[in-house]
Amino acid sequence: MPRGEVIVNKELCKECSLCVVACPHGVLGIGKTINSKGYHSVEAVAPEKCTGCTLCAVMCPDVVLTIKRKSPERK
Ligand code: SF4
Ligand code: SF4
Repeated sequence: MPRGEVIVNKELCKECSLCVVACPHGVLGIGKTINSKGYHSVEAVAPEKCTGCTLCAVMCPDVVLTIKRKSPERK
């Protein structure tokens, strides 16, 4: 189960790829959909690998990404 979830505000993304490079787990990639400004926005291509570390959100100059951290399941 992923420990984090990335929420992308696709309209704000300008396809710079800084977050794609910053993610140590290859969670993010440039998607196929185009936003109203003509950019392909980022999407989670491997959401199951997200650890919730927030590196991508810190790196994004346009505050496009929000990270939700998930609590570990109790056994
Ligand atoms: S929170 Fe961390 S693991 Fe998840 S997408 Fe961002 S950089 Fe990658
Ligand atoms: S760093 Fe921000 S603006 Fe750049 S591709 Fe990632 S989400 Fe889009």
